[in-house]
Amino acid sequence: MTTQHYRPTRALINLEAIKENVRNLKNFLKPNVHIIAVVKANAYGHGDIKVAEAAIEAGATMLAVATPDEALHLREYFPNIDILILGHSPISFATVAAEQNIILTVFSSDWVKQLQLTSNRPLKVHMKLDTGMGRLGVTTIDEMLDLYSEIEKTNGLLLDGVFTHFATADEENESYFTKQVDKLNQFISKLPNKPRIIHVANSATTLMKDNTLQYDAVRFGISMYGLAPSPYVQTKLPFPITQSFSLETELVSVKLLHKGESVGYGATYTADETIYVGTIPIGYADGLIRKLGGQEVLIDGKRAPIIGRICMDQCMIALPKAYNIGEKVTLIGKQNEEEVTIDEWAAKVETINYEIPCIITARVPRIYITK
Ligand SMILES: *Cc1c(COP(=O)(O)O)cnc(C)c1O
Repeated sequence: MTTQHYRPTRALINLEAIKENVRNLKNFLKPNVHIIAVVKANAYGHGDIKVAEAAIEAGATMLAVATPDEALHLREYFPNIDILILGHSPISFATVAAEQNIILTVFSSDWVKQLQLTSNRPLKVHMKLDTGMGRLGVTTIDEMLDLYSEIEKTNGLLLDGVFTHFATADEENESYFTKQVDKLNQFISKLPNKPRIIHVANSATTLMKDNTLQYDAVRFGISMYGLAPSPYVQTKLPFPITQSFSLETELVSVKLLHKGESVGYGATYTADETIYVGTIPIGYADGLIRKLGGQEVLIDGKRAPIIGRICMDQCMIALPKAYNIGEKVTLIGKQNEEEVTIDEWAAKVETINYEIPCIITARVPRIYITK
């Protein structure tokens, strides 16, 4: 059942764009390299189930998430596909993971020693190598071998994969990246047996680096959603990607603001000439954070700035002329020749594009476009 939404504010998720991005990736990869669709954090705010469905249809053969809860949510909808949890899982989740065929990341032999598996099905794990990210993973060959043998001797545990993560793959300077690759090669050369899959490439590595780093699978996150991992990568993309997220609403009020009159909390904006002001029903509780004050939106194919302070549920825009109630306002996306990109928002609030769809809160319904 689809829920009826009465407020006109909504995020539109273009599933065709996501499929196209995955298909383009598939054509770009060496044959037989698997695509792991990274759908953590509710698919970077796009909606985990629909995005996963689109990615699988376009050729992804595995899903990756950050937490046990995210994995269980996907498992309800996808009974068969491999799901990998990239982050830490508590010991208490291990038996559930085995039963649900959810693959866990392991990086500590103590964690393995504490396991008390009571499932009839094996628990599949991927071993995480820390080659320089300094986050999760074994940091030395000895630690790796110790963890490896602990996994080998634990009944019901199966080493299915090995992986690492790069800290600087999206940057022009390759010196730190090269160090990580060297360390990775040392680790891999000392692995007693190669597991089913080795995967090391995030979007930036996949798009920018030598195709030997594709190994058996790539973990495709941000660029599946049509965004470049950094402005530098944006200038070097090996194939086109299309942004899949847009955000729109409608004018709910239009009024004249006379010269000298003000708008919003703190009366921080004062008209220096008579203008039309429109109110739109989206505010910081929707993720339109106050730092976005002054950001332009699109109306009738033209740019119009947000004026005054953004409220919790609403904000005001300076209109180029009088418009009717119900006129469409695009906060992220295209109108005719004009476009406000996620990258533009990211620059405005001095962050990375990854953060933007993630901060659009659950109050904003995700509506799926399938063409
Ligand atoms: C989030 C994440 C990815 C995806 O990275 P993108 O830059 O979005 O492609 C890959 N691997 C790990 C371990 C991650 O945490």
